[in-house]
Amino acid sequence: MSLTTRSAVLTAPQGAVEVRSVDIAAPGPRQVLVRMEACGVCHSDLFVSGLAKLARTPLTLGHEGVGRIEAVGEECSDWRTGDRVGITFLGSTCGACEYCRSGRERFCPKQMNTGYTLDGALAGYALADAAQVVRIPEHLDPAVVAPLCCAGWTAYGALREAALSPGNSVAIFGYGGLGQLALQYALAQGLKAAVSDVSQMKLELARTAGAFLTTGGQDSGKTLQKQAGGVDAAVVFTNSIAAMQQAVKSVKRTGTVVLVGLTMQELTLSVTEIILKGIRIVGSFLGTRADLEAVIRLAGEGGIQPAVQKFALEEAPEVLAQLDRGEIAGRAVIAF
Ligand code: ZN
Ligand code: ZN
Repeated sequence: MSLTTRSAVLTAPQGAVEVRSVDIAAPGPRQVLVRMEACGVCHSDLFVSGLAKLARTPLTLGHEGVGRIEAVGEECSDWRTGDRVGITFLGSTCGACEYCRSGRERFCPKQMNTGYTLDGALAGYALADAAQVVRIPEHLDPAVVAPLCCAGWTAYGALREAALSPGNSVAIFGYGGLGQLALQYALAQGLKAAVSDVSQMKLELARTAGAFLTTGGQDSGKTLQKQAGGVDAAVVFTNSIAAMQQAVKSVKRTGTVVLVGLTMQELTLSVTEIILKGIRIVGSFLGTRADLEAVIRLAGEGGIQPAVQKFALEEAPEVLAQLDRGEIAGRAVIAF
């Protein structure tokens, strides 16, 4: 059995994205075939589209999808036809290395990634590894839950890396798709949350959403020190080097700075400041399997409300262009 479906395809490295018909193979022994209901469009799709070298093209983009299982491989005992699942950037892992065996499979050196080294979920149908998909509750709108499979998961994992307790304070640098969700998680966890962003419009949104302090620009670290006595942790979702430097200045002694936004640039920091203040700087990539399940559970309980704008698959190339120009508010989601 094989079938043909419409897919948002990156035609060549740094090439055009086109919606075209693509053949999908029958699922392998440990794969499921998913009929997609929704898939978010992420900045990482733009990042992949802009890379000079890719393991394979043409490549179907998309790595935060929700759909229903249409067919299961012969060795999949956990899933049935009709089950609703989420697909993430973690396409497959080796299952045997020290990272895979300790719940840190997102650092598996042999991992394959959806919409990057594997065909993705911006398509009518997608193949996925049965061990990596996550169950999605029936009552949720697939378009609202799809962004949780990347943005929501990553934001949750980053906040957990900060290792905070109720009453602690956290500064969120970058109030975009991830920052908005991080603020919701932080407030739900009983944290006091401040937001730093260069956009006044976004700071206004953050105040309405419950941030106790908002600040922006070059002095945000100093402002957080002055007005809040520093924060226990700062999480940087933007890829701005200046924001990372301000985040380091914003934390209290022994505070934690979590870096999430990817850039190819180098970060310059004061060694003295880091050592004498005992600052911990950590990188955070995706999250654990338990984090992903916690995010989906929270959504099921109505605890998170990602703001989404829905589009049709045929609009995917234009949506990517709009995302690149910073014209998308909330998360753009392709609904099938
Ligand atoms: Zn993503
Ligand atoms: Zn591994």
